[in-house]
Amino acid sequence: MKKVMVTTMTNENINFETEECSRCGGSGSHSYCQKFGSVCFKCGGSGKMFTVRGAAAKVFYEGQMSVSAFDIKVNNIIRVSAFNTYFAKVSKIEEHETYLDIHTVSEKFGNLVMGMVGKDSKIRRGWSAEEKAAFKAKALEYQATLTKAGTPRKRGA
Ligand SMILES: [Zn+2]
Repeated sequence: MKKVMVTTMTNENINFETEECSRCGGSGSHSYCQKFGSVCFKCGGSGKMFTVRGAAAKVFYEGQMSVSAFDIKVNNIIRVSAFNTYFAKVSKIEEHETYLDIHTVSEKFGNLVMGMVGKDSKIRRGWSAEEKAAFKAKALEYQATLTKAGTPRKRGA
């Protein structure tokens, strides 16, 4: 398998393959419209878009960071999406027949129960920088197995 350079791991944004935005040609701006001004709405003004395989690698990367609700344990850090989205510690898990009530505690947002969480639903966990780096390395390996169009490379190609 092709080896991937992972020396740029500290920068969150430049790991997955991007290309120049086809709409604005990489400038980030486009003709004025009332809704977006002159900011190119295709790339959000960055001038860059993920290539198909870069986007696939990003999805793969993010997929690794979510686990089944059933695998969540007390003291795990998980992402809570309520009025705010934040990371909180799991303080208690009540198991019901078909769902879980996951109690969380956060210094800033206090106690919150994520109620009626389906056991097979995905929960985004919080990870250490080292764990995220490992996930990213795997996603980059995955990216290297795809052709630019996002399909798996033919063997031996
Ligand atoms: Zn653009």
